[in-house]
Amino acid sequence: MLKYHSLSGADIASLLEQEKIPAFRGRQLQDWVYSKSAGSFREMNNLPLVLRTRFEELFDLEVPEGVRAERSSDGTCKYVLKLSDGNLIECVYLPYSDRRSVCVSSQVGCPVGCVFCASCENGYVRDLTPGEIVNQLLFVQRENACRVTHVVFMGIGEPLLNLDNVEKAAEIINKEMGISRRRITVSTSGIIKGIRALADKKSEMTLALSLHSPFQEQRETLIPAASANPLPGLTDAADYYFGKTGRRITLEYLLIDGVNDSIKAANALAALAKRLKAHVNLIPYNKVEGKPFRRPPEKKIKSFENALLAQNVQTTRRAERGSAKAAACGQLRYETSSNTKKENDVCFKGSQS
Ligand code: SAH
Ligand code: SF4
Repeated sequence: MLKYHSLSGADIASLLEQEKIPAFRGRQLQDWVYSKSAGSFREMNNLPLVLRTRFEELFDLEVPEGVRAERSSDGTCKYVLKLSDGNLIECVYLPYSDRRSVCVSSQVGCPVGCVFCASCENGYVRDLTPGEIVNQLLFVQRENACRVTHVVFMGIGEPLLNLDNVEKAAEIINKEMGISRRRITVSTSGIIKGIRALADKKSEMTLALSLHSPFQEQRETLIPAASANPLPGLTDAADYYFGKTGRRITLEYLLIDGVNDSIKAANALAALAKRLKAHVNLIPYNKVEGKPFRRPPEKKIKSFENALLAQNVQTTRRAERGSAKAAACGQLRYETSSNTKKENDVCFKGSQS
């Protein structure tokens, strides 16, 4: 059976042509899947029953099962989804007044192994298929009766180590769901080869680079993959991305108390940001159970931010959303696999729960 959401519109059209199914039926089918977020062929009630049965034979919709959801008072909802092979991933719905964002996972676990991150706690298992990436958005659309407008690859996994599938997913998200590539942000721990490959393809996606330290030695202690992707090569790749695509990158900077929050680090970060014409997004660390890291006190966060602003570096602070308990990437999945239930868990609309 073919995995429906891993196929482009052109793939579907040529398959239906082979099946001698009229093209307008294909458009109805795509509309059910991507606009109405249908989770089964059965519900596509303007299609003849024989056609729905044929589609059931041809395609697997790979609908993930919602196993846990945690909704916060600001509307943010974090989901743990079970894939068809039983693996768990996470995605987060972030509604704002002017947009509806979804943070998606790109892999089951993460091979990068950053010391502060919960996503790699259970190791790396496998890459997600394009369909498994796209299905996270459709799951959120179904649960919240909404249309997603922005996508960020900031869930579990390193998207640039699953680049082909991420790009295929981006193509489907763009062409079938109508979300502009500029509204798709890929966040990377700094995989030089991937950044260069995206630049060569003149990617229109927004690139966010998780820097977390302006010093090579310290970066390596936080992000093991940094030793194979050293800062000089990384900054060259970031320059290259800007040169080829004309798109400014964002430097993400996790603030960890007593680790990377000194004024010396802020000044070095400012110099780098200026060189790259990049914008800086500060992310106060979210506590992960069992890790020895904490967010800095508010006063230190402010001084760090002011040091950047004083040097005219465009700086924002990541809006903190969702409950503090399991706000960081990979945390809810980790807790779920260790089988702990939380009071503010909510029920699913879908029948799978
Ligand atoms: N692998 C990619 C994308 C997923 S992680 C990357 O590392 O960029 C997305 C962002 O969440 C990264 O900037 C990462 O450093 C950050 N992050 C991970 N653990 C966190 C935590 N406990 N608190 C706050 N941010 C965290
Ligand atoms: Fe992987 Fe990103 Fe977590 Fe590092 S921060 S382990 S790259 S998901």
